[in-house]
Parts: sequence; structure tokens; C-alpha cells
Amino acid sequence: MITVLSGGTGAPKLLRGLRRLVPDADLAVVVNTGEDAWVSGGHLSPDTDTVLYLCAGILNEETWWGIEGDTFACHEALRELGQDEFIRIGDRDRAVHLTRGDLLRSGLTLTEATARIADRLGVGVRVLPMADAPYATHVLTDEGRLHFQEYWVRRRGALPVRSLEWEPATPPPASPETLAALEGADAVLVGPSNPVTSIGPILACGGVREALREAFVVAVSPFIGHAPVSGPAGALMAGLGLEPSSRGVHALYRDFCDVFVQDAGDPVQVPGAARAATLMTDPASSEALAAAVLELAGERTGRPRASRAR
Ligand code: GDP
Repeated sequence: MITVLSGGTGAPKLLRGLRRLVPDADLAVVVNTGEDAWVSGGHLSPDTDTVLYLCAGILNEETWWGIEGDTFACHEALRELGQDEFIRIGDRDRAVHLTRGDLLRSGLTLTEATARIADRLGVGVRVLPMADAPYATHVLTDEGRLHFQEYWVRRRGALPVRSLEWEPATPPPASPETLAALEGADAVLVGPSNPVTSIGPILACGGVREALREAFVVAVSPFIGHAPVSGPAGALMAGLGLEPSSRGVHALYRDFCDVFVQDAGDPVQVPGAARAATLMTDPASSEALAAAVLELAGERTGRPRASRAR
């Protein structure tokens, strides 16, 4: 089994390639839930949903969130009624959030609710929220402390980042399913997701770093030079006093990472790092990077490269 640590853009792009090489049944994805929020009565879990929709073949791959071809009638109607819904939630996407909310209110854990939804969407990959208890990312700005969604969606990431905080201050334990997926993996792949707001919360969950130190881990950098491929990772890393580059990412992963992969064109040198073309602009480039990563994992674990599944 291959287990991937994922946020909602970089790692899902790698997963798109992996799914062309590894059967879904042999893949598990541990997703960040630090950006989860209750919105308009539904439970939004943006990274989980991106991974679910990708694996169900319904993801909008232009934006890497939401369902392709979705409509926004409910969102528009809510705004006409004066509701301050600052996240544009599609109608079918909302149906998933409402279902998740209902399942949680009926007493299911987040892991159980996710499995139920995955099943209904026909998803064969094991999609595992990092923890069953909340652990929400907040950004400290001059205008106060904002939930990550407020900072990134409502304020469009336009405020200088002073620091980050998580709520509650003590991270929850990783879910038992997450720890089992890390412990049982032939290799763990840390996708090129935001190291601070996507991978960081997963690493903080109780038991994850310890499990990763025992696993064979290949991590892909989301940086080329001193800028991330997309998104706020640079400002967030700087806000935590970290170098916004592959070197800074490597420093965060050093204690558990066996192979660190940076872009072939990255001018920043990380000693010992492997190099590959990491820009995934289409399914073919995702597959090429996935093949390179599997090769690195296979070489070092001595296991044969995963066979082509489709
Ligand atoms: P979020 O949950 O939407 O913030 O998304 P992630 O954390 O999963 O991914 C955001 C990160 O993905 C950013 O730091 C980007 O630099 C990185 N990223 C996006 N596309 C690519 C790509 O094609 N290649 C690489 N190497 N990184 C990428």
C-alpha cells in the first residue's frame, strides 16, 4: 500500500498521476482537516472533498475545489437573503457538506462520515481525515486572528501574516485509521502540498511523526526557487520564521524524510535531494512525477515498482 499525505491542490495533482499507476485499492490518502469549518449548516472539509471528488472523477480540475459543472443557485439565494456566505459553495458540493454535517450530528466520527460519503460517491481509494477531533488553522494578522478560510477566501490572502495558531493549542491524536495507514504502508508520499497549512497540521497530530520515522517516506517540494508553485505557502512559511524555499520545507521534514524530491530547475540546493520535473500541468505530467516518485520509493525499499493499473 502507498499512503499519501495531502492538502487540496499539490498532493491531489500527484494523486491524479498515482491513480494511473497504482490500483485504487492499494492507495490511502491522509488529508488535512485544519481548514474544516461549519458553513450554512453543512460541514466543509475542503481538502477531503478535493480528494474525494478527484477519486470519484467529478472534481473541477481548473480550480482544484468543487464539482465540475456545479451550479450555485443555493449560494446566490442565500446571499439574496442577506446571508454572509463568503465561500462560493456549489449546489452538489453543498449536498456533500450537508450530508457530512448530518452524519456527524448523528454521532459518526469524521472518519466514518468520510467513509460513508466515499462509498456513496464510488471512491475506491481510502480517504482518511487526519484526526476525528478538530484542529483548526488560524492566521494572526494586524486585523486580528482569522480562521484560515477567512484569511484565504474572504480576505484573499492579502493581509501580512504575523504568525499562525491552531485551535485547540494541543493537537488531537491522529485517527487510528490514519496511524494504521502510515504503519502499514510500503511507502508514504508527502505530496507537494502547503507545508504549513496542509502537511503541518497532519504532522502535528499525535503519533504521526513517530509513525513517519518508522516508515519509508518520499516528500515532494511545492517550491521552485523562493516561490511556491501557487498559493500562500511563501508568506505562511515566512510568518513562521522559515525560509520560503525547498530548503525550508526540507528542514520541516528532515527527521522523517528518506528521499526529498525538488524540481529539476530549482536553483536552491538541498544536499542529497533527488531531482524530477515537479510541475504538474496536466494528467501526463502528474503521471510522470508519480512514476519518478514510485521509482525512488521502489529503489530504496527494494520492492518492485507498482504495475500500471489502467
Ligand atoms: P490547498 O489545500 O488548496 O492549500 O493546497 P495544497 O496545500 O494541497 O497545495 C498547495 C501547494 O501546492 C502550494 O504550495 C503549491 O506550491 C503546490 N503546488 C501546486 N501545484 C503544484 C505542482 O504542479 N507542482 C508542485 N511541485 N507543487 C505544486
